Amino acid sequence: MRIEIDSGRLVSEIEALAAISDAEAPAVTRIVFTPTDLNARAWLKARCEEAGLSLRHDPIGNTFARWTGSNPTLPAVGTGSHIDAIPNAGKYDGVVGVLGGLEAIRALQRTGFQPRRSIELLVFTSEEPTRFGIGCIGSRMLSGTLSPKAARQLKDSEGASLEEVRESANLSGELEAVKLPEAYYNAFVELHIEQGPLLERQRIPLGVVTSIAAPASLRISIEGSGGHAGGVLMPDRRDALCAAAELILAIENAARTSGASDTVATVGICEVFPGAVNSIPSRVRLSVDIRDTDLKRRDGVMQQLEIAAQAIAAKRRVSILPEMLNADAPADCAPEVIEALSESCRKHNLNFLPMVSRAYHDSLFISRIAPTAMLFIPCRNGYSHRPDEYASPEDIARGTLVLAETLAALSR
Ligand SMILES: [Zn+2]
Repeated sequence: MRIEIDSGRLVSEIEALAAISDAEAPAVTRIVFTPTDLNARAWLKARCEEAGLSLRHDPIGNTFARWTGSNPTLPAVGTGSHIDAIPNAGKYDGVVGVLGGLEAIRALQRTGFQPRRSIELLVFTSEEPTRFGIGCIGSRMLSGTLSPKAARQLKDSEGASLEEVRESANLSGELEAVKLPEAYYNAFVELHIEQGPLLERQRIPLGVVTSIAAPASLRISIEGSGGHAGGVLMPDRRDALCAAAELILAIENAARTSGASDTVATVGICEVFPGAVNSIPSRVRLSVDIRDTDLKRRDGVMQQLEIAAQAIAAKRRVSILPEMLNADAPADCAPEVIEALSESCRKHNLNFLPMVSRAYHDSLFISRIAPTAMLFIPCRNGYSHRPDEYASPEDIARGTLVLAETLAALSR
């Protein structure tokens, strides 16, 4: 079987989808369930129908396009990603996995290959957290990680509930029906741009993802006591920002000393009240993001954060209240899917790098219900989530070829 990727068609489809955007080219903005997102979905469904795939969607809008195998009762082989895009994003994040997945299926069809297991393209709803403040809504619900009850409570910044928004997008049915049945997929593979610089830097065309890091995010409120910057003498102060400064450094130190370079911790937001030059900070709010590929190690950083918070609170006579917003567990990819990807690379004499996904993806959640791995292709300078995000046609075609080979192997 000689698989040939129609790179010209694939690239022109990526361009066509990028043109369905609320931002001016080359930027792409496609927020879930906006008219633009719905247009993009309709365009994509038409491409899937052209390929002869049978389409269905679930009540949250996850879209399944299936190439039925010769034994359709067997658990299917899945591939896919997302087409929603944050404001002012690029053309490739998510899209490469969706249109690459479609082209991989078409390329296999052109060879005359007949899969034994069905091969299914899955387009996830709202991988990006833009509208509802939480990412991967579709894959969280498919895997049962986000309950229908919790999903019903989600609202966008204009106060519209997820329920209202999906109904206005003509999605009916109870959210309880979204969760996939046991053993729905035999394997799942997501093709994606790396969103980091390692492949490009090392001139390696492909990355086989062995684990997916996951963030824990916290909000920390620190309450001290305000006052006049001239009037309150130093021994009497309970400065919330000085306490925050100590805590930020303690968080950095906890990540640095975890014993592994996969541990990263970031305090990305520091809000200071009242925020006046001649007023002692009375209140500070920090937003913290801690990531690791190992749950125990990440939890260790959180424990150190709590110990430091208590010590700093006592010493500085302030109150420090950490509030956990989200703590998804990291995932190891499935050895059999990693091996299928690696074997496909070897078959085509393509060098590959086993690597960690430091961003998280729908695959993080699908890995809880199916053996899952990811395939990365390089992107220029590691840029992503910006209009100059770029992956070359050659890299996209190589990724799509290896994906096709892998889907074929897994579906036999
Ligand atoms: Zn993505």
